[in-house]
Amino acid sequence: MRILLQFPEGLKQKALEHAKILEKEGNEVFISASPTFGACDLAIDEARSIKADKLVHFGHAEFHHVDFNVEYVPYSIDAPTGILADSLDYLKGYERIGIVTTIQHIHQLGELSDFYSRNGKKVVIGKPYGFAKRKGQILGCDIGSAATIDREVDAFIYFGGGIFHPLGAVIATTKPFLVVEPFANRIEFIDHLRERQRGRSRGKVLSSMDARRFGILVSTKNGQHNMALGKLIKKKIESSGLDAQILVANTFDFISIWNMMEFDAFVNTACPRIAVDDSDRVSASKPILSANELMDLLSMKAELSKVRN
Ligand code: SF4
Repeated sequence: MRILLQFPEGLKQKALEHAKILEKEGNEVFISASPTFGACDLAIDEARSIKADKLVHFGHAEFHHVDFNVEYVPYSIDAPTGILADSLDYLKGYERIGIVTTIQHIHQLGELSDFYSRNGKKVVIGKPYGFAKRKGQILGCDIGSAATIDREVDAFIYFGGGIFHPLGAVIATTKPFLVVEPFANRIEFIDHLRERQRGRSRGKVLSSMDARRFGILVSTKNGQHNMALGKLIKKKIESSGLDAQILVANTFDFISIWNMMEFDAFVNTACPRIAVDDSDRVSASKPILSANELMDLLSMKAELSKVRN
């Protein structure tokens, strides 16, 4: 069988090892060297170009249905759980807690729930919206496992490494949000990031008030592509008397976007985290707005023009 292997950046160091195993089993094996951002970013075009029979995608669970033979190999990591005892001090006064984690630690969710239940907490596990597939799992673009239980809990715990995943969840919720990082041995409430993100979002809208020409980002990545939304946004902008053009790329390069100097601001329809984490990567004065931020902007502009007239 001809196989194309695809690894996210953090696992690319294991590519050769896996390729050799599959070759020994009699397969013809190729490795995708393209950047890989998630299971939204399957290398299907590459697989078709080299006439591969199968794409093996490491590190992520299935994200969306695709018309190609894809095998997902999620990568589980057993994190030490000794840190949980220390987290109890932070959770004093919070009785009902929601726990979220990433696909790498989802197999430990039972152990985490048992620990907090034994220590007098009522544990609530939420369901993702659909891109993430497991209860309690969050992705950068699917924080349903937190948002759907916001009313039922007094506080949240994110168990895992890094800030990328909990940042999405803290923005979408209203309760105290504790990050428990087992490898860094760090425990911290990150509610200040919720406030900071709200402030940044308001700042982006205000700094786009004079924008007249908008570039709308539409990605060709199979799990991010949303041309229908791009066209809808274009119509909406044009019906407000402003200019808009759809910009298409597989991976958006912020220097290339910056080179398109005629645009005053950008609207994102690709990975939703672009409008959060990379919103000022083109230029601080030319922000990348989410669709919701664009709607706020257009209604503020409409209000302002009413007042002026
Ligand atoms: S957060 Fe962005 S990069 Fe990650 S899976 Fe979702 S769409 Fe893909």
